[in-house]
Parts: sequence; structure tokens; C-alpha cells
Amino acid sequence: MEGMLYPMLVMGGLGVVFGGLLAFASEKFKVEVDPRQSEIRAKLPGANCGGCGFPGCDGYADACVNAGAKPNLCAAAGPEVAAEIAAILGVAAEEAEPMVAYVKCQGTTQKTVKDCVYMGVHDCREAAVVPGKGPSACTFGCMGFGTCVSVCAFGAVKIADGVAKVDPEKCVACGACVNECPRSVITLVPRKSKVQVACSNPLKGPLVKQVCSVGCIGCGICAKVCPVKAATLNGALAQIDPATCINCGLCATKCPVKAITDSRPPRVLPPMPPVNAAEEKSSQPVSA
Ligand code: SF4
Ligand code: SF4
Repeated sequence: MEGMLYPMLVMGGLGVVFGGLLAFASEKFKVEVDPRQSEIRAKLPGANCGGCGFPGCDGYADACVNAGAKPNLCAAAGPEVAAEIAAILGVAAEEAEPMVAYVKCQGTTQKTVKDCVYMGVHDCREAAVVPGKGPSACTFGCMGFGTCVSVCAFGAVKIADGVAKVDPEKCVACGACVNECPRSVITLVPRKSKVQVACSNPLKGPLVKQVCSVGCIGCGICAKVCPVKAATLNGALAQIDPATCINCGLCATKCPVKAITDSRPPRVLPPMPPVNAAEEKSSQPVSA
């Protein structure tokens, strides 16, 4: 027993000394955390989707307090939380335009031409870098392997008949799917924009027609009929300026290949007079 006493005393003494040193070091070198950081973190949803541009919710809370990040960058949290974060930081709350993810492709399995039997990994990012680049002959459209589905923390994306589809009710516009898609087929658009070009193929019409029946052929009819010049051609691909578009839907109606989508609910248009009747009326003499 006496033989054990000495080592036990030495070990106990060492424990006391090192414990004291650790307590001293933790007090001396402790990093002061601004309490506002924890307050902001508690307001964030904890989805850690990265949509704010920072590594997770902790990173964003830190950036708000220490790096001047704007209080409205968390799309998942929404405008009310943005206002609360602004109040914690003591800055003015800015309203962000509500956005939603949109898939610029309608190339379902029936609408696109397949040019190979793809036997590789079913992951868009991996398929994009191997020869063949997936089964579709359109190398600009959705590959349909659902990498976007796997990164969406809100269950807002699914693959329907070979094409990604976003549920606007579930989408919080975090942008994770936008960042992950190797084809850049998904984009964030203002929620109020109801008319969109659903194609990402920039090639000329005849080449697009060879691979997809609903791809934009660059005919420019949309640009001709748009009453406010919101629809234009960017090379051979139509584009719509959301700031100018008034959602009249004329371009979608007139597009010969239906490459433009109109997500407004169906509406009843006022009855148009028959062309002949209108002509007859205008040719009748006006009585005094
Ligand atoms: S949208 Fe992009 S990430 Fe999603 S399935 Fe299509 S190619 Fe893949
Ligand atoms: S669909 Fe995209 S933008 Fe919308 S919540 Fe999911 S990952 Fe985020």
C-alpha cells in the first residue's frame, strides 16, 4: 500500500497543476462571443442549406454580427425573421424580392431524343464530366438524375418523367439546387413572374429541333408579339426580362413550340368579335 501512495500523490498533484493551468488558459484566451450572434442563430431555421452564401446557419449568424452580412439573406427564414435580425443588429430592414426556383427545361423522356443507353452513375455532377454526358441528345437540358432533389432541404424538387420539377409551395428560394445543377438549368426567378422561357439550349432552331420538340427555336415570335418588349432573343434563345414583363402571357400563347410557360391559373378571356362581323361593321356607312 505504501508503494502505491507515492505515485498516487504524484498523479493527484499533476492533475491539480494541469487542471489549474487549463482553467487559467481557458479564462485568459477565451474568445468573447457577441451575444447577438446567438440571438440571431436562434432565429435561423437551422436548415444549413447555404443559400445565404455562408457555411450554414452558424456561419451566417457570425457573418451578420462580424462581417456586415445583410439581415435578409436567409430565404428559408423569410421576411419576418429578416426584420427581427435587422432589429437585433440595429440596422434598417430591407425587403427582398420573393423568389422561387424555376427549371428552364421541359425535355421529358417523350419530348427529347435519347442518343445513348447511359450506364454510368446516376448523379448529374458526375454524369456531366464523363463522355456521353447522360442519355439525352440535348446537352443543355436537365439530365434528370436528381442531384438537385438530393440537395433540396425542403423537399421542393422532384424528377417527373426525366425532368426536374419545383414545387413553388415548398421552395424557399435558398438556391442550393441552382448551385448544384451542372447544366445551370435551374434559376431563381421573382415569384411574381408567371411567364418563363423553359429552355436552356442556345443553339439555332434546326439543331434544337433535332433533339427536343419543346426547345426554343429562336423564331423571335415572342419578341414580336410582346407589347412591352420584355421578350427578346439572346442569340437564338428567347429570354424574358422579369422587371418589364407584365405577365400578359401573349408570348406563351403564340410560341409555336410552346417553349414558354405561363403558370397563371386559367382565365376566361373576353369574347372577341368574329373577324368577318368586325369587317362588315367597319364597312357599313355611319348614319348621321
Ligand atoms: S435540374 Fe440539374 S441537377 Fe436537377 S436533375 Fe436536372 S440536371 Fe440534374
Ligand atoms: S427547390 Fe432549390 S431553391 Fe427551392 S428550397 Fe429546394 S433547393 Fe432551395
